[in-house]
Amino acid sequence: MNQPRFFIPNRVSEEVLQFLQQYGDVDYRNKEEQMAEEEFLDGLSKADALLCYSRQKINGRILEQAPQLKAVCNIAVGYDNFDLEELTKRGVMATNTPGILTETTADLTFSILMAAARRVAEADHYVKSGQWQEWFPSLMLGKDVFGATIGIIGMGRIGEAVARRAKGFDMDILYHNRSRKTDVEEKLGASYVSLEQLLQQSDYVVVLTPLTDETRKMIGEKELALMKKDAILVNASRGATVDEAALIQALQKKQIAGAALDVYEKEPVDPDNPLLKMPNVVTLPHIGSATKETRGKMAMKAARNAVAAVSGEVPENLLNEEVLQNMK
Ligand code: NAP
Repeated sequence: MNQPRFFIPNRVSEEVLQFLQQYGDVDYRNKEEQMAEEEFLDGLSKADALLCYSRQKINGRILEQAPQLKAVCNIAVGYDNFDLEELTKRGVMATNTPGILTETTADLTFSILMAAARRVAEADHYVKSGQWQEWFPSLMLGKDVFGATIGIIGMGRIGEAVARRAKGFDMDILYHNRSRKTDVEEKLGASYVSLEQLLQQSDYVVVLTPLTDETRKMIGEKELALMKKDAILVNASRGATVDEAALIQALQKKQIAGAALDVYEKEPVDPDNPLLKMPNVVTLPHIGSATKETRGKMAMKAARNAVAAVSGEVPENLLNEEVLQNMK
């Protein structure tokens, strides 16, 4: 019987490679940049399992070129880059890496909230660019975080981890989900509110839902207009959960005080995107889970999912269970 073949188009650790080599052939390209589509499709056409990051779109057109593919394993918890329906139809398992990146992403989310509140990036630039000529009382006045109200849209794994950090800052915690989480209410004193109430009452609105048909542009013109004038919007989910044109307008009209963004509708963000010219907007390059330790664990989790899939087992983080009725 042929050995299974794992295709890894981007850099992962030596540990992950050694782990996969015990179970099959590894087609590994030690690249940071995204592979050209032709080269990617060539690798995929011979693969039984793919390990990829969330920038890699997997749709019907791509799957057409991958006759023996059994699994696509995201090194990410979000999986809006996968067309799950197409994957299921073709008998391909899809997996993600939930949990292990929760605390790391919550750290980053809370840090950009703090950075926007206390104008950290702006102040750093002010000093380094030699603009600091004298100290004066209103220099870089920011907004309190301690004791303020945080509204978390998407009280899932990462949302809850952000709420735990917020509790340490004695914040009032509001949240909105499709379903209530009474355990979080009891543990952290969080209050479940409607989206409207959350937007109207929060000093910091934090978006942490997955990107789905329902959440696409869930924060648009109407929602931004409900926010307090001195509130800050934090988006660490996916760029498209926020209507970026509406956000730019709201910031230009000073309807809200600022934003902290790790994600954008188009990534990498265009250099002429007006958001990049606004000092009251903190902009990061989608690095929520980007620590050495966490990325290593995520790739290893994806590798374990891939091995399970090619060994005829059900991977721990299978996203499309219906595929089990449709296996190749
Ligand atoms: P999770 O545990 O599944 O939490 C998602 C939460 O969103 C759930 O509580 C869910 O609750 C809520 N939700 C889903 N649809 C909703 C809707 N229509 N309206 C309101 N709430 C909704 O996921 P997670 O592990 O916390 O990750 C969340 C997302 O963060 C990921 O999907 C990913 O896109 C993003 N992320 C970004 C980075 C980064 O680098 N910036 C890193 C990691 C993750 P209900 O089902 O009750 O609605």
